[in-house]
Amino acid sequence: MRNKKIKKLLIGTNNRGKFKEIRHLLPNYIKTLPVSHFKLKSPRESGKTFKENSLLKSFYFSKRTGLICLADDSGLEIDLLNKRPGIYSARWGGKKSDFNKAIKRVYSELNKKDKNWKKRKIKARFICALSLCFFKKKIACVQGKVEGYISKIPKGKNGFGYDPIFIPLKKKMTFGEMKPKLKCKIDHRFKAFKKIKKFL
Ligand code: IMP
Repeated sequence: MRNKKIKKLLIGTNNRGKFKEIRHLLPNYIKTLPVSHFKLKSPRESGKTFKENSLLKSFYFSKRTGLICLADDSGLEIDLLNKRPGIYSARWGGKKSDFNKAIKRVYSELNKKDKNWKKRKIKARFICALSLCFFKKKIACVQGKVEGYISKIPKGKNGFGYDPIFIPLKKKMTFGEMKPKLKCKIDHRFKAFKKIKKFL
């Protein structure tokens, strides 16, 4: 394990919502840079798992900037949809990352599978893989998840992505209705972050 504390870190995402959430999880002494600072586009996510995709992004951004990079790959798995959208969660929003479109697609796929799905509890989970790499070296790669189910209708305006349709286990409101301070203490990113903290 490295015994030097990281002081400067590149956050390997072009998604503003994610950048903000990751920034909040990091200690204040770490200076963070977004990839937009280097005008870098995200690489093609050709991995088959969340972990593979987070590693691929972390290696890619680190090699191009010479900085240690923390990259994530995350998404929503819905059991009735055979774990889709999964690693394709962002892509269900189309080229413009339109989250309303992605949510509509979830409901339309659920309707296709079972017209009465609203009478059932539709199990789902958010997953987050985090990778920390420096040039060609992997420092760490971890994964966190939060279990829950799909709301019958979208609720709440907080957060981003699929937040309005995800109700975490033992809670009565969606991530979209929750105060960001509460969401970020129970979500998949927080759980993955707890595991990667010791490598920072
Ligand atoms: P990627 O990791 O950049 O491939 O994107 C993951 C996608 O999963 C995001 O664009 C969101 O649609 C979704 N996602 C990941 N984490 C969250 C979350 O905390 N809330 C809502 N949607 C999320």
